[in-house]
Parts: sequence; C-alpha cells; structure tokens
Amino acid sequence: VWNHCLHVIRESIPEQSYKTWFEPIVPLRLNGKVLTIQVPSQFFFEWLEDNFVHILRKALDQAIGRDGMLEYSIIVDKGNEQNRPLTVNVPTTKSPQTSKPDNVSPDLLRSPFELKDLDSLTLDSYLNPTYTFDNYVEGDCNRLARNAGYAVATRPGVTSFNPLMIYGGVGLGKTHLVQAIGNYIKNNNLDKFVLYVTSEKFTNQFLNAIKTDSLRDFTQFYMQVDVLVIDDVQFLQKKEKTQEIFFHIFNHLHQSGKQIIMTSDRSPRELGGLEDRLLSRFKWGLTTDLQQPDLETRIAIIQKKLQAEGVYIDDNVIEYLAHSINTNVRELEGVIVSLMAQASLNRREIDLELAKLTLRNIVVDSDKEINIDTVQEVTADFFGVTVADLKSKSRKRELVYPRQVGMFLAKEKTGLPLKSIGYHFGGRDHSTVIHAIQAINDLINENPATREAVEKLKAYFK
Ligand code: ADP
Ligand code: MG
Repeated sequence: VWNHCLHVIRESIPEQSYKTWFEPIVPLRLNGKVLTIQVPSQFFFEWLEDNFVHILRKALDQAIGRDGMLEYSIIVDKGNEQNRPLTVNVPTTKSPQTSKPDNVSPDLLRSPFELKDLDSLTLDSYLNPTYTFDNYVEGDCNRLARNAGYAVATRPGVTSFNPLMIYGGVGLGKTHLVQAIGNYIKNNNLDKFVLYVTSEKFTNQFLNAIKTDSLRDFTQFYMQVDVLVIDDVQFLQKKEKTQEIFFHIFNHLHQSGKQIIMTSDRSPRELGGLEDRLLSRFKWGLTTDLQQPDLETRIAIIQKKLQAEGVYIDDNVIEYLAHSINTNVRELEGVIVSLMAQASLNRREIDLELAKLTLRNIVVDSDKEINIDTVQEVTADFFGVTVADLKSKSRKRELVYPRQVGMFLAKEKTGLPLKSIGYHFGGRDHSTVIHAIQAINDLINENPATREAVEKLKAYFK
C-alpha cells in the first residue's frame, strides 16, 4: 500500500522534495483502513502535515480509498519509537485545515516552519506584499540604501552587495526596504524561494529545533533558500549557539551564490556580542545606513501616505506635520492615522487646528508611556544584555556600562527620584546613581561612541 502511495506522490512533487521528505519514511503497518508510517522527527511530521497534506490525501484515496487514514509514529530518541502514535485524520476535502492531534500544541504545529501554499507547493516567503519600492519614498536620507537595495532586487546574488546590510534607528524604514527587495525578487523570479524572517523568529525556531531534535531539518530548510532576508540581526547579540548555526547557513548560502539581506538597528561596529567571524562576513558585501528623513522627504512621505488612503489635506497642514515630527517615519504615519481617525470620528475636515490638537494629544500620550521598565528593557536590549544583568550585583565592565547608561536614561526620561531609580537597579543607593549619571555625562562629552549610543537610546523614547 505504501509503495502505491509513494508512486502517486512521486508523480506529484519535485524529485528533490520526494527524496527529502518521503524516502526517509518507513511504513509500519496497515490496520484496516489505517496506515501507520514512521517519521524521523516531530519536525518532519509537522512539515509533512503542513506541506504535503493534499498529496498524502490523494495518495491515500488511490491506495486505500476515501476513508483511508494516516497515523504517524514519531521517533523521539534515536531508535526509540514514541509509545503513542499520533493519529491524524487527513481531511478528505481540499481544505488546508488539517486536524491537529491534541497532544501537539498548536504552537508547535504552526512553528517552526509554517504552511506553504497548498495549491502551488510554493514555499511561503512571509513577505508582506504591501511593502514595495513603489511606495518607498526616496530621499537623501535613504538614497544609497534604496539604490543598493534596488540593484540587489534586480540582480539577486549577482552584485557585490552580498550580503546587503542595512542599518538605522527604529522606524526609519529598514523593514519596509528589505521587504520591498524581497517582494520584487519574488514577483520577478517565481522559481526563487525568498524567505523573510526576523532574527527573533529564527532564534526561536532554532531553539525549538533543538528541543524537538530536528536540527538537521532546520538547517536543511534554511539551506534551500535562494534569498534570505533576515531582519534585526542585533537580536542575535550574545546568542552564541544561534550565531553559530546562522554562520553555517550564511556560509552555505553565500558560497552557493544565494543572496542574503540583513538589517540591524545599529552599525556592525556597534554590534557587540556578535562573533568576530560572523561580523567579518557581514562586511563582505555592502553596509549602508538609513538616516532620519529630512524635511523634504517627510513631506513626500506624508503626501504618499495620504494619496494611498485617498485623503486630501491642505499643503500647510502637511508642512506643519512635517515640521513637527522629525523623529522617524513610523511616528509620522502614526500621526497621520490618528489624524484621519479624528477627522472621521468628529466628521470634520483635517485642518491646521485639528492637526495641532491631535499632535498635542499624541505627544502627551507618548510621554506617559515611558516608565522605568521600558527604559531598562530598551537599554538591556540595546547592549545585548538582560534586565536581570542590569539589576545584578556583578561589577563586570560589560555590565557596569550598560547599567550606568540605564540609570542615566531613567533619570532623563522618567523623572523618578534617584533613590527610586537605585531601587529599580537592584537596590543600589542614591550615591551610586549620582555617580553613574556623572560618569555617563562625562563619557558623552569625551567619547563619540557613548554620545551616539545615548542619542539612539533617547530616540526610542521620543
Ligand atoms: P524599521 O524597520 O526601520 O523600524 P519600518 O520599515 O517598519 O522601520 O518603517 C516604519 C514605517 O514607516 C512603515 O510603515 C514604513 O512603511 C514607513 N516608511 C519608512 N520609510 C519609508 C519611506 N522611505 N517611504 C515610505 N514609507 C516609509
Ligand atoms: Mg523593522
């Protein structure tokens, strides 16, 4: 029966997929209408369910009949078959909904490697199609990055921009740009597997693969990617094991002429906690940054957004907004959205008065949100340490500095009394806080790196 199934499957999918996903399967038994197959790992099972469920259904139809069922037996430890096999009733309709066995959390089933498009068997790229070059406004602040991105988009893997690394502060358009590159490549090269993943997701998938003993599948999955877009690599700081696997995947892809595109919220120079050998790889290609948008670009961005929404507002209002919000594009968009909401709620036109009113409310709101927890989280994240590190007793240099910066920012941004700040930083007394603030103040004056770091951190709280 299984051979019959294999025959059907082999005819329906590419040879490579067949070899990877069906040859390792061992048929165990046929009990009435229930066929039991043994698969090498949890991951393997998930992959089959996510990607080949309709093929399996077809095969079962032909080999057993429409009421044929499939049962998986998953090998847990090498050679140790799991006691209770998972029974999966492969649906008879073409619905992509597969019934999920109770003892597998939905989380596990959806991650690490989620559904592919069931009909075409193309791999899901996780790109957001709304991010395109067309709606990416070009300006002095982003011209180099944008043009390099466009070159990569039109000739992936061929230019010397490999990897392409784009860095810049929050909300400056990194994700938009790299997604635009991905979308462009995907739409113009239907045979290429483009994958967008955040470094955080990559890390979680990796950890999950370790937990479920499916590291090989994990690596294999990433090695078949043609264009890898990996967002926010600063998240990999201090995650040595994840960096190691990423290093291997990176090398493999790069050697095979596959395109790699990365973003980071800071320059490679500031990416402490990243292995040197990985950092040196990043420098093989092109590294370019996104700057804060200048006034002209801000105006153009507002116009573009309004146009996309089909909303008209007067030029003087646009200029007012562009003058008032000079932090980042995300903020600019946020204001436009609230402005439109205000206008439609109150059934009034968007004029200067409404713009001023809206802006005032937003500024007040964002002030309120800054509390010591967010300051600590952002600071820890920035330096690649944990909040617990900031609160710890450790006097290690690589912790003392972030801790001092954290206290400095807490003073600036929360207005809490020094005593209270000390309390939140692991119960330190207020003279320690004073000392920290002084130390950072001095460093800001003497040391450009500190100045830049503090400025960037402050920008998070604007
Ligand atoms: P980042 O990843 O750098 O934090 P995003 O790419 O998420 O920033 O950008 C924030 C928002 O600003 C997104 O909605 C994005 O579409 C928009 N945006 C950023 N830069 C531009 C630009 N040059 N033109 C149009 N929209 C932009
Ligand atoms: Mg982003």
